Amino acid sequence: MSTLNTLSHDVSLQKLNTFGIDARATLFLPIVDVAQLRAVRDDVSLSTTPRLIVGGGSNLVLSDHIDALVLHMCLRGKALTAEDEDFYYVTAAAGENWHAFVTWTLGQGWAGLENLSLIPGTVGAAPIQNIGAYGVEIQDVFHRLEAFDFETGDVVVMDKADCAFAYRDSIFKQQYRDRRVILNVTFALPKRWMPKLAYADVEKWLLQAGVQAPTATDVSEAIIAIRQAKLPDPQVIGNAGSFFKNPVVTAAARNDLQQRFPALVSYLQPTGDYKLAAGWLIEQAGWKGRQLGTVGVYEKQALVLVNRGNATGADVRALAERIRSDVKKQFAVELEVEPNFY
Ligand code: FAD
Ligand code: NAP
Repeated sequence: MSTLNTLSHDVSLQKLNTFGIDARATLFLPIVDVAQLRAVRDDVSLSTTPRLIVGGGSNLVLSDHIDALVLHMCLRGKALTAEDEDFYYVTAAAGENWHAFVTWTLGQGWAGLENLSLIPGTVGAAPIQNIGAYGVEIQDVFHRLEAFDFETGDVVVMDKADCAFAYRDSIFKQQYRDRRVILNVTFALPKRWMPKLAYADVEKWLLQAGVQAPTATDVSEAIIAIRQAKLPDPQVIGNAGSFFKNPVVTAAARNDLQQRFPALVSYLQPTGDYKLAAGWLIEQAGWKGRQLGTVGVYEKQALVLVNRGNATGADVRALAERIRSDVKKQFAVELEVEPNFY
């Protein structure tokens, strides 16, 4: 049923963002039904109010006051919707927890999402930055999605080409930001599966565990264990995951840097450019484990900024700026932030 009855005012978002920033929203609406989005669009006052779509809040840096209508994505449901000779097509609603969904697919015997185990957040947000980890990105297993378009009022179906997926990027971070609300996502999970073990940590973990021919569940378990050992649990220490994208530079720029810094960590890209490990650059710039005011750089992974107590969005920006500036001074490399600022 279409309803705006659950609309509330002046709502705390502290528990809805994993950085734990004590932000308040002017207006807040849990979305359990697409009809609510239509009702917002049809409402004279709400239709012109700025919007912020929130899933699990694990990729957000919020200002103290969000003068907007927060749409909290709570749509639920998941099912096998089709299959053919090559794929299982599995659909999940936007508000489903991502990791619980991955675990459920593995339990059904459908491989493909295991490298993306334990990423916080929701299914609906996964396409936004084309989530990626351990050599797999959403675009590798994406089939299509449905989204509500606030400009036209239509529910649109988008395939892979429509989403303009790129490294930690998609069309939803660009022209459709706050305009298209993802309602559900369908994944094509391969019937003929091969493990993807290119990342050294995963290979090493499986070797040490004596696993010779890993199943998708083995890979998932390895990745869960590695992540638990290396990353701060947002329930315990507020954070938004990797704070900067890994910069991609030309081969000439990378070779120049490697001459000056022989230990430089870089990876050749299919384009011939090189991806630099941003965490290494930040560590070399002396920031690993350090703190500026209420925000710190995690001691086990320099790419993660952490809330050391009552951090505000402004505090987070201040530290991010200092790091960017120091990395630029030392390496002449621009770091780009990964989370979404509001
Ligand atoms: P939110 O933070 O709620 O929102 C993120 C953005 O998506 C916002 O701009 C929001 O407006 C928009 N949005 C959310 N839902 C919708 C929707 N239904 N329709 C349209 N727009 C929407 N990311 C990776 O890529 N790889 C990792 O390995 C990884 N590891 C992480 C580890 C930790 C400890 C943490 C804290 C974060 C990590 N992240 C990682 C980042 C984050 O978990 C992902 O980007 C995740 O997909 C965000 O989901 P969310 O539901 O929390 O999105
Ligand atoms: P890691 O394994 O220590 O590697 C450091 C960096 O080197 C990573 O950023 C990774 O790039 C790159 N890298 C490592 N091995 C590579 C290979 N074989 N080929 C190409 N690139 C390689 O990284 P980590 O910090 O522990 O993270 C592990 C994975 O989880 C990474 O894929 C990372 O992106 C993902 N992760 C993401 C977030 C987030 O919030 N976005 C948070 C935590 C972890 P890529 O980052 O491009 O993979």
